[in-house]
Amino acid sequence: MRRNFLIFLIISLLGMTGAAVMSGTAPQEVNLYSYRQPFLINPVLDEFTRRTGIKVNVVYAKKGMLEKLKAAGANTPADVVLTVDIGRLNELKKAGLLQPVRSAVLENNIPAHLRHPDGLWFGLTTRARIALVSKNRVKPDALKTYADLADPKFRGRICMRSGKHPYNVALIASVIAHEGEEGAEKWLRGVKANLARKPQGNDRAQAKAIYEGVCDIGIANTYYMGKMATNEKKPEQKKWAEAVRVVFLNQGGRGNHINISGAAVTRNAKNQVHAVKLIEFLSGDFAQKIYASQNFEYPAKAEVAIDPLVRSWGDFKADTVSLEKIATLRATASRLVDKVRFNEGPGS
Ligand code: FE
Repeated sequence: MRRNFLIFLIISLLGMTGAAVMSGTAPQEVNLYSYRQPFLINPVLDEFTRRTGIKVNVVYAKKGMLEKLKAAGANTPADVVLTVDIGRLNELKKAGLLQPVRSAVLENNIPAHLRHPDGLWFGLTTRARIALVSKNRVKPDALKTYADLADPKFRGRICMRSGKHPYNVALIASVIAHEGEEGAEKWLRGVKANLARKPQGNDRAQAKAIYEGVCDIGIANTYYMGKMATNEKKPEQKKWAEAVRVVFLNQGGRGNHINISGAAVTRNAKNQVHAVKLIEFLSGDFAQKIYASQNFEYPAKAEVAIDPLVRSWGDFKADTVSLEKIATLRATASRLVDKVRFNEGPGS
């Protein structure tokens, strides 16, 4: 009996070794470094594993992704990075931490303007940086362009978060792209003069300030409007959302500034094939629907429906200036913020 079991065990072990050799030595796993939050990513990763059998080891990072990846060098445990903002993707690219990917699935799912030409990064969603205006105190059509934000008629009526936050740096970079550095500086000085208070808080805090009557106009990313309007855990945020109206800017001209969330394969990825499979899955219908419905973002994949609440704000024309250009102008934008002392607020 015991001998039969021993033989069985040996045969089983040999079989397993054979299978391992046949399938290659790569383990069925992929390591993901994510700036995106667990509530959004976990259901997607679970489904990916269910469909492919590939396990995803995920590390959630808030800050220091670049530093950690640089420090790890060739020993990086991360195969895929998932992040928001073109600036972060570009920093990884510039540091030589990404590798080019060719994939028919990705090229089919993601429009060319939302991915790097050599496949160094792939945009998965877009978000527009819009104006939120007081429903009661700002007449329809009073504010139509980014240039209007600098118009003296809005003196003391605008709220913004820090000019150094990546979302605002990218917005200012887009103004530089269209109007040059001098034009952007003049504009930024005008916006600063119109501030109701020193830049502070996050995007949602600007809607709160409008609700409280501190100011009449704020700048925020579209999805925050959706998140406030549906916030059951913090119902006070529904009131902030109710107090404001979404205004897409520059609709008669260059279009509203947009940014992306995206993914990339690391240069030293040990599970390269699985890494590409994961990003392909993130660009597919299942994941794109979750981005749209759970986080109120615009799916990169054109065929995936936009959330009804997001659709209720209307269609908009997006600024098509290249994200690469935005990324390269970020340093200049950040310098302008310092130069005009934007974060010191009005009257400084
Ligand atoms: Fe955000």
